[in-house]
Amino acid sequence: MIYTTPDKTNIQTDIAIIGSGCGGAMTAAFMAEQGFDVLVIEEGEYVDRAHFNQNPRELIPKMYRQNAALATDDQSIRILQGKVYGGSTTINWMTSLRTPSHVLDEWADLFGLEEYRPHSMELIFEDVEKRLNVHKVPEWAISPANQVILDGALKLGMHADRLPNNSKNCIGCGGCGLGCHYDAKMDMRLTYLEDARKNGTHIYTSTRAYLIRPETDERQLVKAINLKTEETLSIHAKRTVVAGSAIMTPLLLQKSKLIKSKLVGKHLHLHPTAAVVGRFEREINPTYGIPQSAVAEHNPDGTGYGYWIEAPDTEYFLAGVNHTPTGNQRREDLKQLRYIAPLIILTRDGADKKSSGEVRWRRGLNLQNGRFSLKPFPSIRYKISPTDKRHLLMGVETAIRMLFAAGAVEVLPYFNPPPRMTKPEDASIVHKLNSGPNQISMFSAHPTGTARMSSTQKTGVVDKTGKLHHYNGIYVLDGSILPTAPGVNPMITILATVKRALQIGNLNL
Ligand SMILES: Cc1cc2nc3c(=O)[nH]c(=O)nc-3n(C[C@H](O)[C@H](O)[C@H](O)COP(=O)(O)OP(=O)(O)OC[C@H]3O[C@@H](n4cnc5c(N)ncnc54)[C@H](O)[C@@H]3O)c2cc1C
Ligand code: SF4
Repeated sequence: MIYTTPDKTNIQTDIAIIGSGCGGAMTAAFMAEQGFDVLVIEEGEYVDRAHFNQNPRELIPKMYRQNAALATDDQSIRILQGKVYGGSTTINWMTSLRTPSHVLDEWADLFGLEEYRPHSMELIFEDVEKRLNVHKVPEWAISPANQVILDGALKLGMHADRLPNNSKNCIGCGGCGLGCHYDAKMDMRLTYLEDARKNGTHIYTSTRAYLIRPETDERQLVKAINLKTEETLSIHAKRTVVAGSAIMTPLLLQKSKLIKSKLVGKHLHLHPTAAVVGRFEREINPTYGIPQSAVAEHNPDGTGYGYWIEAPDTEYFLAGVNHTPTGNQRREDLKQLRYIAPLIILTRDGADKKSSGEVRWRRGLNLQNGRFSLKPFPSIRYKISPTDKRHLLMGVETAIRMLFAAGAVEVLPYFNPPPRMTKPEDASIVHKLNSGPNQISMFSAHPTGTARMSSTQKTGVVDKTGKLHHYNGIYVLDGSILPTAPGVNPMITILATVKRALQIGNLNL
């Protein structure tokens, strides 16, 4: 049953789950199937296909955290996150890749997570892929923007391939980032939340949890507010699962003072992402077609760290983001939209373990809802290390060459201001440009790691079952628990990791 306003305000349940994205949905389905009483609390609004009218003015405030303008404190990295029924999967771009084996082995070697070795994860990946209808995008469905990757990589002698995604009867309208009107995207709403709901899970949308108070090992109080009626809810649970995402989960744990581990909020990974656009003489029409249906990858040092190149969702609201900032040039460039192929370069951060990111409440004068305030504010800080930056810039250089190889007549890497390049030899200039904060445009849709999993309290916030090391009864099961950046788009990794944690521990129930 889904409630947009609460039917009662004092609730007893076996399991309270905060968040309805990958982690929350998987946990709800897994536990409800066993007959437990499950309650999911989701801050975002309930949405179904009738809401997905492709109107960004209406849907961005409804579905994106902070109107899609969430960013690091210095504004140098924009962070895209869903705040909606189904979490970020409702607005995501469907790339569905398994965690590479070397990453799972790294987790076992560095964090004692033996149960997460590749052979133990194989069946889980299969199971998740089956539920989400993951399949390789057929050749005929590759859009011209994605074809640029396949053509360009072939000419550069680089490996590239079609990507798998989680869709059924997708018509390639290109609107994934504003929710799929055709119910073709197999997001959490249509898969694990649906399974959970059929097994009796209660789901409260427009309801924000703001405090977790542990009472005994078998009892926690979760306080929440319904954002439509402003009623306060008291939820008494035997187990509480925090699945609010790698940005929101640590903030809730910190606010609830569940911070005996000094690591809560630390080790934020972002897969820092840069963008390059190429202008062609032929029409590319990047706003149409299945996003991210091809990939080219490179692991320059042979260490498992490096970059990969994709062609993202380019709806109109995203097309202008990070482009030439203002003025006539911007207008002229955007008029050319249908001739443009945008590529993104994603970096697996953590190569030298020196990139550092943190999410925490800070004090000091700040702007809240348009007013200056001295109240604590949520702060996201991130510093990219020289090695990760080098990988990112190598990726930018490759993407420029790839665009020219595929026939672009002009290429603009998103620096500030973007240099306009007309030949492949210009590409190497990127290493000489100022790429400090706000000098190269970066964004992320992949925050992970802020409550990382490890067999010891010293190196992790949760154990191999997702339980907080320092508190019984309270679990974190979302992107926060990934011990290192997965190096692939993280949806399948998060789903599989959460399922494995539940298989191992079953929330100790
Ligand atoms: C635009 C975009 C495109 C993406 N494309 C891809 C892709 O192609 N492939 C891929 O693998 N990954 C992609 N991702 C990333 C992927 O969707 C996320 O990594 C994944 O959904 C994260 O799962 P999660 O459970 O950690 O959090 P989320 O899915 O973000 O869900 C967290 C939910 O918790 C809710 N919440 C937070 N705090 C509270 C609270 N206090 N009370 C109640 N509710 C709360 C939030 O509102 C949110 O709905 C994309 C992400 C975005 C934003
Ligand atoms: S491209 Fe496919 S999955 Fe995405 S919104 Fe359109 S029909 Fe839905």
